[in-house]
Amino acid sequence: MLKVFLIPILKDNYVFVAANLKTKECVIVDPGQAAPVKNLILKEQLRPRAILLTHHHWDHIGGVQELKKSFDVRIYAPEKEQKSIDFADQYLSDGDAVREAGFNFKTLDLSGHTYGHIGYWEEKQNWLFSGDVLFSMGCGRIFDGSIEDHYRSLLKIKNLPPETWVYCTHEYTELNLGFCQKKFPQDQELQSFAEQVRSLRQNNEPTVPFQLKQELALNPFLKVNNETEFITLREERNSY
Ligand SMILES: [Zn+2]
Repeated sequence: MLKVFLIPILKDNYVFVAANLKTKECVIVDPGQAAPVKNLILKEQLRPRAILLTHHHWDHIGGVQELKKSFDVRIYAPEKEQKSIDFADQYLSDGDAVREAGFNFKTLDLSGHTYGHIGYWEEKQNWLFSGDVLFSMGCGRIFDGSIEDHYRSLLKIKNLPPETWVYCTHEYTELNLGFCQKKFPQDQELQSFAEQVRSLRQNNEPTVPFQLKQELALNPFLKVNNETEFITLREERNSY
């Protein structure tokens, strides 16, 4: 049996642990902190095989060194961010495969939020570990990447199967919905989705992962018709 564990860390981050509960092998995605990850590994008696990093921001890599001391793990990171993440065992470019713990991930170049951001797609399981590129009802901000690349990265995600479960690294859904509803106050679908999200969050339940088809129907950043519309929308969101 396969399972993705969600570990909330810091203010609104998630670390993901994708595990095979039979073999107990697992991979850890974007561990911004070590202690909460260690706790889960010990509690579930898992055997970490690898750490997958999407980009160089500290809230995604902060726990790596400590986890490496505790577990025999191979560290994967984006090739383009080798300068910022100089401690990985293997660097990945678009299309590269990662086979660990019985999973088979394909690397997607999803640069834009940062200059070398990558995502990890497990086609058979319909999982996408997308870091800070796409959020439910929103998308990542542009740091040291380019907005044109970010737009192309979102198009790439749009072309994945609609059944794909997106594991993004932040719980931003409610915040993003505030912007969406202000911009589209008459949208009934958005309104009923916002109600669902509110009740989940009131019970401290995550809104992650979410299915791509939901976002294709509702997320304004995936509904734009071209790059210019995307840039305008992103700028509006920046000043929200
Ligand atoms: Zn980031």
